[in-house]
Amino acid sequence: MNFDLDDESRLLKETVTRFVEEELMPLEPAVLAREANGDGFRLTEEELKPLYDKCRELGLWGLDCPVETGGADLPAIALVGVNEALGRTVVPFSFPPDSPNLHMLLETANEQQKEKYLEPYARGEMVSAIAISEPGAGADPSGMNTRAVKDGDDWVINGRKIWISGVDTADFTIVMAVTDPEKGSRGGISAFLIDKDTPGFEIARKIPMIGGSSTFEVVFDDCRIPAGQLLGKEGAGFGPMQTRLVVRRLQMGAWCLGMATRALDMLCEYANQRTTFGHLLADRQAIQWWIADAEVRIHCLKLMLWDAATKQDNGQDVRTEASMIKLYGTELATDILDNTMQTYGAMGMTKELPLQQMAQHVRTMRIFEGPSEVHRWVIARNKLRAYA
Ligand SMILES: Cc1cc2nc3c(=O)[nH]c(=O)nc-3n(C[C@H](O)[C@H](O)[C@H](O)COP(=O)(O)OP(=O)(O)OC[C@H]3O[C@@H](n4cnc5c(N)ncnc54)[C@H](O)[C@@H]3O)c2cc1C
Repeated sequence: MNFDLDDESRLLKETVTRFVEEELMPLEPAVLAREANGDGFRLTEEELKPLYDKCRELGLWGLDCPVETGGADLPAIALVGVNEALGRTVVPFSFPPDSPNLHMLLETANEQQKEKYLEPYARGEMVSAIAISEPGAGADPSGMNTRAVKDGDDWVINGRKIWISGVDTADFTIVMAVTDPEKGSRGGISAFLIDKDTPGFEIARKIPMIGGSSTFEVVFDDCRIPAGQLLGKEGAGFGPMQTRLVVRRLQMGAWCLGMATRALDMLCEYANQRTTFGHLLADRQAIQWWIADAEVRIHCLKLMLWDAATKQDNGQDVRTEASMIKLYGTELATDILDNTMQTYGAMGMTKELPLQQMAQHVRTMRIFEGPSEVHRWVIARNKLRAYA
């Protein structure tokens, strides 16, 4: 398999790498200080505005959006480099729009929904959230209870969702609900588009998470929406939801690659400077083995990402590859970040370095988009099936 990037993809990767180094990295100390002082893990409006201006100037917008929506329609292989570069910094910034919901909309939106949601979303004029998880159904979304019932020309939604990211600022939320309890995930779960401020759609509480982020618990209390807010076919919500999970899992693998390579760079730089007991840390076999293992595993992750992206660009089903990447990438980044923090000693425990922020972020990544144990189970189940 040939993993060479074409000229356009290589140029894009260089542009994004430069953007991260020149525009995002200088903001890292302020972002870390803000979080350490309890002022939120965030960029200010004054910091965000010039970043968006620069993105537009460089064409770093709508990278995976279709050309007809003003996007660049880049192949998955090019996006690996983009997300790897973004993963190298803890500055909470990504190029609009967020890919997973974009792909779910592309797969399901009808003409009216394209005009009302997809096109402004692709232009970065709208932001969205996704509400799948419930207090009683997280890793296993097929157990969800939130119910949507047809009433004349409307749908009425009742239930509760939890751990929902970004719903406080979202213009619309894609909400998964049961439309046929008998069929469940096999034809009985549908997706709906719910606008912010829709009566009966309430944020019940904000939940602070590790790493300075927050999620939200959301309640649907006789939330009435017109029939036109059904996204895709009734009962066929589970498939497009899986599409968006695959997109996010590949993206997460590339973020992990970025985090791991930054941590390894920092480990090697420090090991070559710091002397203990008359020797550089770089001379210690314990440290060398961490470096060797990190280098090998990073190389494996890179190949896994390029393989999956190439297959995706060829129209192949990469659900299993995405599971393997999400599992391997998050666990690899966890280990490399931990070893780098250990190498830095007390300095590695400070909130002045990005390491602890990355470590907390990757810790949450081992839960969302499917916990590691569920991915191991799915990978094993698929393998065993071939021998049954
Ligand atoms: C930071 C963050 C952001 C999130 N954002 C969103 C969002 O925007 N929208 C949304 O809908 N959800 C979101 N979630 C929720 C996330 O998808 C769920 O937390 C996740 O799917 C796990 O569900 P759960 O927490 O209910 O754990 P459970 O399903 O209760 O599982 C608990 C643990 O049991 C083990 N386990 C479960 N099943 C198996 C199995 N088959 N085999 C072996 N072990 C198993 C695993 O160790 C797992 O961690 C977010 C979560 C986090 C942490």
